[in-house]
Amino acid sequence: KEYGVNELRRMFLDFFESKGHLKMKSFSLVPHNDKSLLLINSGMAPLKPYFTGAEIPPRRRVTTCQKCIRTGDIENVGKTARHGTFFEMLGNFSFGDYFKDEAIHWSWEFLTEVIGLDPNRLYPSVYLEDDEAFNIWNKEIGIPADRIFKFGKEDNFWEHGAGPCGPCSEIYYDRGEKYGCGKPGCTVGCDCDRYMEIWNNVFTQFDNDGNNNYTELTQKNIDTGMGLERLASVVQDVDSIFDVDTVRALRDKVCEMAHCKYHESDEKDVSIRLITDHIRSATFMISDGIMPTNEGRGYVLRRLIRRAARHGRLLGIEGKFLAKLSETVIEGSKDGYPELEEKRDFIVKVLSQEEDKFNKTIDQGLGILAQMEEDMKAAGTQTLSGADAFKLYDTYGFPMDLTKEILEEKGYGIDEDGFKACMEEQRTKARTAREVTNYMGADATVYDEIDAAVTSEFVGYDHLTDQSKV
Ligand code: ATP
Ligand code: MG
Ligand code: MG
Ligand code: MG
Repeated sequence: KEYGVNELRRMFLDFFESKGHLKMKSFSLVPHNDKSLLLINSGMAPLKPYFTGAEIPPRRRVTTCQKCIRTGDIENVGKTARHGTFFEMLGNFSFGDYFKDEAIHWSWEFLTEVIGLDPNRLYPSVYLEDDEAFNIWNKEIGIPADRIFKFGKEDNFWEHGAGPCGPCSEIYYDRGEKYGCGKPGCTVGCDCDRYMEIWNNVFTQFDNDGNNNYTELTQKNIDTGMGLERLASVVQDVDSIFDVDTVRALRDKVCEMAHCKYHESDEKDVSIRLITDHIRSATFMISDGIMPTNEGRGYVLRRLIRRAARHGRLLGIEGKFLAKLSETVIEGSKDGYPELEEKRDFIVKVLSQEEDKFNKTIDQGLGILAQMEEDMKAAGTQTLSGADAFKLYDTYGFPMDLTKEILEEKGYGIDEDGFKACMEEQRTKARTAREVTNYMGADATVYDEIDAAVTSEFVGYDHLTDQSKV
């Protein structure tokens, strides 16, 4: 049966409620008392105090559907079938209560019995030293040994420095040959979109003393995460997370505004998917009170909005469109997130104002670039300096590919190495300016990801024809 996104969310939460879990609503995208994280990027992240014991959970079994943002995935957005900067993560959690046995059995029960996925298309992976998990899959669930994949620390061990850590077991779904990369050896673990990772079960059972001496924890925890859009894409048997019912409605709206059809051209499709994703992130961020600014979360939001606006221009959309588009996001997701409906007017207003600002930025940037061209002419050079290119981009927010496009038309180039050096310098400054704590696996690298993600697209303009770069 083909379940919709909103239906699947409810089925998951109901299922784990029936297994004694307390349903909790999604936490805000803005982390609470956690300086190591810019934006919530997993179901587990807002529950950290319960895992460390800093706070007592309302119940030892909890289930959530958490809105997540992963800017570290921004380069993949529009290109893979499975990555968005925004997605929803379904999760069941045990704080010193049940462990591996229940977690694995329930994940299997949910996927094969409740949802009715074909067991022959599902493949689990385990950490290679985790015989316990292997045996549960093999002996108790009955999956043949050659269908269970054993991976090393890099893939199947969850750890961030000292503190609680442990092996994980992931569940992959074979979407069929047509999604494969066709390379020899393409199987579970391949980076292509055939064997799609849908669910990660983390078993925190050890404490790392910081020198890789592991001791067994007395309180063992379960932390799982399954991408709702990915689950829906396999249940609905569609190409990507951009084709599941709620997201597709949004994608269609983008096409309607651009007067084009999906699958008209690969280049346009990337822009369409990118806008579809970024407007989801932006809408949810604003509903959680984040405003477009020039630093931190606000900067991420501003970049996402402007990147979407830029791709709207590439698609030939005239005038403002993002504010209107956010209404479709709200319609599609208000079922799970009533705050969207409550903040509707606010969201629309913030987006509309930011689009106005962006349009002004473009006009201003064009003026400054024209002046730089005059200066280049006077100096008799054909190359815009890295510092000037960076100033346009960083101070005036002018999209880099636009600078390049305009200059190239007139036979000018850009000192790309100089530009990269300026970028690197700024990144280093930002890195040292921030406070990074490592609090139980808090993603200490997330700021670096943000910097890289938000800026690399501007650095990476070696690929001139790559329209996904802003
Ligand atoms: P991948 O290897 O495909 O990038 P991951 O291993 O980084 O996924 P986890 O950190 O294990 O993902 O997160 C748990 C689950 O959340 C994944 O199994 C997947 O279903 C979902 N997920 C992770 N990243 C994304 C994303 N960018 N967009 C949509 N869903 C995601
Ligand atoms: Mg990933
Ligand atoms: Mg993975
Ligand atoms: Mg994973």
